[in-house]
Amino acid sequence: MPCRVAYAAVDDVGGAMRRVQRRQLLWQSLVGAGALALGPRALQSLAGPAPLVDLSGARRIATAVPAPPIISRAQWGANESLRRGAPDFAPLSRAIVHHTVTATNESDPTGRIRAIYEFHTGNRGWSDIAYNFVVDGAGRVYEGRRGASGAPDGEDGSGRGVIGAHAKGHNTGSVGIAMLGTYSDGRVVPTDAALDAVAAVVAWKFGPRGIDPRAPGALVGHRDVVATGCPGDGLYHRLPELRNRAQAGIVPPVLVPPPDDDGGLVEDLLDLVVDAPDLPLLGRL
Ligand SMILES: [Zn+2]
Repeated sequence: MPCRVAYAAVDDVGGAMRRVQRRQLLWQSLVGAGALALGPRALQSLAGPAPLVDLSGARRIATAVPAPPIISRAQWGANESLRRGAPDFAPLSRAIVHHTVTATNESDPTGRIRAIYEFHTGNRGWSDIAYNFVVDGAGRVYEGRRGASGAPDGEDGSGRGVIGAHAKGHNTGSVGIAMLGTYSDGRVVPTDAALDAVAAVVAWKFGPRGIDPRAPGALVGHRDVVATGCPGDGLYHRLPELRNRAQAGIVPPVLVPPPDDDGGLVEDLLDLVVDAPDLPLLGRL
């Protein structure tokens, strides 16, 4: 694949730092243009989320995204004696958004989540709360169905997600995120804080798995997969925006070149271009 990198003469070339910056820019341009196959030595990051690169030959680049603050089951007062059986896990590939059809301006979110949990395990007879995560109007995120990793992440310790009971026939491989409230009336819209919280959960789950929230089927409403009004018009019509907010939370990985002067072909190429005094790098076309 041809490498399309733009050059132009400038006057301020020089200095070790400048050279390093140009080298990094060139490296990222080459990688971004698909000109280089990534090797393990490329897996160095600058400050920020660590890049995780699939070296199998695919071009997918995954990004670790920090978890949002999560109110654990212990913190919202889940009675663990209500839970039954052993959870099942599956690799995550999508997110499904719900509303809980409860009070929209909830005055007691943890009490409401305990009630939902008791309803699902009692009246419904399910093994645990249906949802993988719950979000309230203030943008707080609550752990839903319990995983097995020891953290409130709904995972099993090897990256698989616990299978919930939020979308019949579509639970396996999906993370179910429920917004507290009722958004059936299109005039009832979720708060910015709540949308941001859902987006943060999606970014956290999708980033490391290389899933683009804007890809078809990746981030959908309950009604997209099951005949239901959920998550209500007021929330459903915000899904396109929610996809963009989630994508914005997935910071592209920053790749830096391998160590300088170690004799490799790529390094020689970089040095040749970077050292050319009249060819400072501007960026990728
Ligand atoms: Zn639903």
